[in-house]
Amino acid sequence: MTKVKQKVKKKPSKSEKSKKKVVKTKLENVNISETKKEIILCFCAHNDDQVIGAGGTLAKYTAEGKEVYTYIFSYGESSHPHLHREVIVKTRVAESQAADKIISGSGIFHLGLKEGSFIKEIEERGFKERIKKIISEKKPTKIFTHSQDDPHPDHRAVNKIIREVTAQVRCKCDLFSFDIWNFWLAKGRRRPMLVVDITTTFDQKIRAIKAHKSQKMALITMIPATYARSIINGLNHHYRYAEVFYKIN
Ligand SMILES: [Zn+2]
Repeated sequence: MTKVKQKVKKKPSKSEKSKKKVVKTKLENVNISETKKEIILCFCAHNDDQVIGAGGTLAKYTAEGKEVYTYIFSYGESSHPHLHREVIVKTRVAESQAADKIISGSGIFHLGLKEGSFIKEIEERGFKERIKKIISEKKPTKIFTHSQDDPHPDHRAVNKIIREVTAQVRCKCDLFSFDIWNFWLAKGRRRPMLVVDITTTFDQKIRAIKAHKSQKMALITMIPATYARSIINGLNHHYRYAEVFYKIN
């Protein structure tokens, strides 16, 4: 008698088996419909700005399963006036892709606009519509770009364009600015801040900056400056290394 009872307990009936299958299928369906990942966009002027300004944060978001797409306005050809344009473009694209791989980004795209004429070119070549389309289709939760008081005119131009476009498409995202050259001036700002603990991704940030090998002179000053800024931001907010952004929309 006992043996029979045990057998009955172990073997599920046909109806139980089919119930299990249904539940499994339902769960699979739920998973498929809920796989839409959070999307973060980054717009910048040159192809090392995103890692200098937000590399640790972007790497942290990708580690959390978010998708990060970066759009670079120029190829940065003015940094090598003695080289042929094709050589610079090839080098800088390869370097930015290597950097994007280090932070596990979902893609890096170059708009190929001429440095010093972003505002003029963006209108003339229809790039404003293209950026509007990108933002409308991607539906990001956050966008990162340059600050409006950055001393570099191309950085300020990107800030102006992205502020205009996000307002025009009524993006429901949070728009944050990062700083490249005005490390210390940003202190006096009175805007909501986003402070990100980048202790676990700081190494990726440094490696992604170093991936821009052709920027030898910039790297000499940028690496120590990145350490200094990340440590000071960290001390101010009780982390080892931190990045700080200002909300601008
Ligand atoms: Zn730049």
